[in-house]
Amino acid sequence: MKILFATAEFAPFAKAGGLGDMVSALAKSMANRGHEVRVLMPFYGDLNHREWLSAMASPFRVGLPEEAWTRLWKYQPSPKLTIYFLEYEQYFHRPRLYDDDSGIAYHDNPQRFALLSRAAIDLPHYLHWIPDVYHVHDWMTALVPVYLETLLRRGLLEKTASVLTIHNLAHQGYTSSALLRFSGLPDHLSALDQLGFAAGLNVLQGGLYFASKLTTVSQTYAGEIRTPAFGCGLESVLNFRGADLIGILNGIDDSLWNPATDKFLPANYDAANLAGKLRCKRFLERDCGFLGEKDGPLFGVISRLYGQKGLDVLAEILPHILEKMHCRFVILGSGEKTLEERFRQIADRFPDRCFVKIDYDETLAHRIEAASDFFVMPSRFEPCGLNQMYSMRYGTLPLVRATGGLRDSVIPYDRDGAAGTGFAFQDLSPENLYAMIDQVCRIYFHRPEQLIAMRQRAMIGNFSWEKSAKTYEKVYQWAIQSKASSFTIN
Ligand code: ADP
Repeated sequence: MKILFATAEFAPFAKAGGLGDMVSALAKSMANRGHEVRVLMPFYGDLNHREWLSAMASPFRVGLPEEAWTRLWKYQPSPKLTIYFLEYEQYFHRPRLYDDDSGIAYHDNPQRFALLSRAAIDLPHYLHWIPDVYHVHDWMTALVPVYLETLLRRGLLEKTASVLTIHNLAHQGYTSSALLRFSGLPDHLSALDQLGFAAGLNVLQGGLYFASKLTTVSQTYAGEIRTPAFGCGLESVLNFRGADLIGILNGIDDSLWNPATDKFLPANYDAANLAGKLRCKRFLERDCGFLGEKDGPLFGVISRLYGQKGLDVLAEILPHILEKMHCRFVILGSGEKTLEERFRQIADRFPDRCFVKIDYDETLAHRIEAASDFFVMPSRFEPCGLNQMYSMRYGTLPLVRATGGLRDSVIPYDRDGAAGTGFAFQDLSPENLYAMIDQVCRIYFHRPEQLIAMRQRAMIGNFSWEKSAKTYEKVYQWAIQSKASSFTIN
């Protein structure tokens, strides 16, 4: 198949969260399976590895009503995979992907990503390469299916299908109806069952309505988003498209996240020999300035610090935990200023037991995964979540709330220790989280043999992309067939 990914993120070039990891790993995996994969993403101001790219010779005109002349850059990591970068200074040469330094979303995000989506539609003409299927991700490229099924129903792309993956339904690209004129899309699309939403437009809703097939990143989340509690106002359209929606759990990229080969670690290890894990723990404890030799459990957190992640509840109970329990915390993340400040204050109060770094730090993320005994992820909702899978791969037992992909990937501890790759609780409350942390501390001190068995089980679990990539392959074929039959009917 010829597959064109249109995406706002792609690791290692630009990533704000799991979306960038997923798209990159899936694209590589599809190319390895013999498909011809091309990717379009923005050339951001702080794009990593720009020295790897080469500029395309001729300019690339994006067919918005106010036409935009852009430049494409290209990188080809393997014969079947090419990544194109859309350079348009006015929109993408900014220090951060979606928001300014104070965390406020850029006011023109809908226009920026409409340009990217339209460019994805124009790219096949420029390359003389017609994809069988577009794979688009979240609201940022959700206009691609809208273009395909409206303005471009006829022509070169008339047989091209589209698959839209929902990585996080909370972000929808809500904007005013002026975006239709900007995008060159017909006014009638502002109808309430298409892009129209409240008094404006909802870009994601348009994609959900028009894409040939829909996926999201875990089976549980696929069910959850069809209910008012998780649907973020889009549950009706998701139920309407329910027969075309499936959940596929993300895998993890073994070339980047493997404790036996991870270059960021001071010592490597595997399930058969965990000695290196203890060395990683001691190294990180020293690095964090923790004094004293007495052993105790180390808890890790790596996260965007937003309400979704439930870490405000951790911040509430953390001082009591650090006062009462013999344990330590290493927390890496950034996001809401008030939450950042709360964690900073806790670290100042307990310098010997809590280390906090407000930053985005790839190296430290790997070291925390390897060094920690437990990883805390009490998310209010979690479409898939990658860190709990990285944790298990590193023999670090995740403590999760049983929602979305956390529920689908972590097997909860049972009392006799015969099963389980982590710990799960149902309702997010300070009491429940406190009780769970208390429970795992007790197991750490009194049932260490159970933890070793759990770590080993977690490490050998299969989180590779292989299985998920095969399912995506079927979804692409399903999308192409459904597009072909709709084409015949019309
Ligand atoms: P989400 O996509 O909601 O942020 P995921 O668990 O799916 O959550 O993915 C988060 C990804 O971002 C992981 O690869 C994680 O290691 C990384 N990450 C998040 N915050 C940081 C940070 N402060 N420093 C380094 N990596 C981070």
